[in-house]
Amino acid sequence: MSTDTPKATTPANVTTTFAELGLISPILARLTELEYLQPTPIQAQAIPSVLAGRDLIGGANTGSGKTATFALPMLQQLSKQSVGKGSTNNKGTMNKGNYVSGLILVPTRELAKQVADSIKSYSVHFNGAIKAMAVFGGVSVNKQMLALRGGTDILVATPGRLLDLISSNAIKLDLVNTLVLDEADRMLSLGFTEELSQIMALMPKKKQTLLFSATFPEQVQTLTQELLNNPVEIQLQSKDASTLVQRVFTVNKGEKTAVLAHLIHEHQWRQALVFVNAKHHCEHLAEKLAKRGITAEVFHGDKGQSERTRVLEGFKAGTIDVLIATDIAARGLDIEKLPVVINFNLPRSPSDYMHRIGRSGRAGEVGLAISLIDHEDYHHFKVIEKKNKIWLEREQVAGFEVAEIAEDSILAAELAESKPMAKPEGTGKKKRKKKKTVNEDIWAGYSKPE
Ligand code: AMP
Repeated sequence: MSTDTPKATTPANVTTTFAELGLISPILARLTELEYLQPTPIQAQAIPSVLAGRDLIGGANTGSGKTATFALPMLQQLSKQSVGKGSTNNKGTMNKGNYVSGLILVPTRELAKQVADSIKSYSVHFNGAIKAMAVFGGVSVNKQMLALRGGTDILVATPGRLLDLISSNAIKLDLVNTLVLDEADRMLSLGFTEELSQIMALMPKKKQTLLFSATFPEQVQTLTQELLNNPVEIQLQSKDASTLVQRVFTVNKGEKTAVLAHLIHEHQWRQALVFVNAKHHCEHLAEKLAKRGITAEVFHGDKGQSERTRVLEGFKAGTIDVLIATDIAARGLDIEKLPVVINFNLPRSPSDYMHRIGRSGRAGEVGLAISLIDHEDYHHFKVIEKKNKIWLEREQVAGFEVAEIAEDSILAAELAESKPMAKPEGTGKKKRKKKKTVNEDIWAGYSKPE
């Protein structure tokens, strides 16, 4: 993959510099090396509050630089304490043994590694004075226990493995100064409730808590009030700022694989990330694509960690062209310049739709998200649109036009809606245009040029 292009386009409406945000020279020097020319909007607005020690809720589009938003101030705060063994927490107590100062909780193993790698990269000019590491399941716990000896300044963890390490006394949380919940809505969702409340009970009450996500569903907002102390709230999710084009294609039931193969052949995207809803669907779809001459790799929770790592690294490095994944790939993963995300199956949760498509169009790059819907998906896609306040024109793929029965299903889906759908601004009372067949020109700019 090419590395010679600048990392991100600078947001037009941001004039602040990283220096003006109050960041110190070892960090500024690194940001220059990484070609971070200016802070992104969430960085510009949140970093001063985080540096001032405030609790914060940060909502901003996927790929908008949230990691640096919490990581840079954490590094700066740590560098001002005498980090490592013998440093003090916010009560002035001496750190002992297997301490951790900054804890970042994330929902997936791969995200844990990615965030820890970013922090290590941001901290190179502290010359090893700040120790950061990731712990997650699926790999040997012994190695992690060894690495944790003497504690760590920043720990990025998935909740299950963190609890294992706590129960074997490899780490203690009673000196945590800063807690970050990345992908906060996921971390506060039902699947993590039990583990999260155990972890929360082991940390000091007085600490800085930071919550970041691209989506904050209503039920999560109530929970956040309990976790945070007088937080600064910054919500910058914006469709206008998005460089991601979303499209939805109606297809006949039973023709999704053919349509997917057609799109991949036709447009020769440099890479494509395809989401399905079940682990076994990954393999099944990969086999069907193979019969159509397309080599795809799969990524899901039943794969061993070394295989998961191999596949994700291959995809990030551009040596894997088509990746078929479940929602474990939906959160936070930063795949540079990923041209397209395809929803072969729709995600159950409307928030997951936003997280999935957010793997493309990151850091100001153009991106494309395609959803393939057959008549059984129509109603659910309307729910996804409604919850996310989006309204997409239904299109068809030339050569795969939908049969009449599908039209009936659209009507049925519309009748099934209890309330009329809120349309986004600007659409007024205009009816959705009749479905149109894809004009191949529309794809210009998304296809592989070579
Ligand atoms: P994140 O949302 O933290 O996953 O970041 C998305 C991508 O944007 C990553 O590849 C970051 O390296 C990159 N990035 C973050 N902040 C900036 C910035 N201020 N300028 C340029 N690229 C950035």
